[in-house]
Amino acid sequence: MATKCVVCQSTIEKGEYCDAHSIAKKNLEKRFSDWQKAYEKMTWEEYLTRMVEDADIPVGEWAKEVAIYLNNQSKK
Ligand SMILES: [Zn+2]
Repeated sequence: MATKCVVCQSTIEKGEYCDAHSIAKKNLEKRFSDWQKAYEKMTWEEYLTRMVEDADIPVGEWAKEVAIYLNNQSKK
């Protein structure tokens, strides 16, 4: 059964994310582990907020969209 990417609503075969957003999410998670080495107390939520709000962080457009989505999810 076809479904939709939770971020961009494009039709996908399975899962929650399209290919582009799936890769972007993996990159976000990978980068988070790097950040945790630098800022030990940083939580996933704080990290996502930084990604969304700090324009100086070179985060790709897709990764930013995933961060915005996850950030909204965590506030519910
Ligand atoms: Zn997508």
